[in-house]
Amino acid sequence: MAVRPVVIWPDPRLREPSVAVTAVDDSVRALYRDLCDSMYAENGLGMASLQLGDTRKMFIVEPKLAGLSETDPPVAFINPEVLEVSDELQDSEEGCLSFPDIYIKVKRPMRTRVRAMGIDGKMFEIEGEGLLARCLLHENDHLTGKLLVDFVGPLKRQMIKKKLQRVKEAEADGDEAEA
Ligand SMILES: [Zn+2]
Repeated sequence: MAVRPVVIWPDPRLREPSVAVTAVDDSVRALYRDLCDSMYAENGLGMASLQLGDTRKMFIVEPKLAGLSETDPPVAFINPEVLEVSDELQDSEEGCLSFPDIYIKVKRPMRTRVRAMGIDGKMFEIEGEGLLARCLLHENDHLTGKLLVDFVGPLKRQMIKKKLQRVKEAEADGDEAEA
């Protein structure tokens, strides 16, 4: 088990280009397990590899949200491809583990269809509606370097930056006190 720290914006690693995975080998499976452990540690619905500072093109989604049982493992999306999005939109608040305690109203398609390779190396397709569509498109955005702050204007972006910097400074003070 390896819970790894989540990369917090404005860390430039969140903007790095992601690289296609050529084969599901032991190191890809290890990354998948780290993503799962780290997502559960933060109570997230999904997590993308760039959020752990790894550029391999992969994200995971919490099993219940993906239509499985909660005892199933999270679903891995390796080299995902968004095949379709609906014209119909949904508009609600969205959070992100790389933006702790920040929620932003984001308009997204109501439905989407995504193709990816699973952790078993087999290709699959999934259709998502509502929150699942939102989650799939949010995680896919991560792999193209697109982030929540890209949906807001420069003023709000500056406010978010200040808030997250305060969080970071508070954490740094805390570490010092513990040391
Ligand atoms: Zn996110």
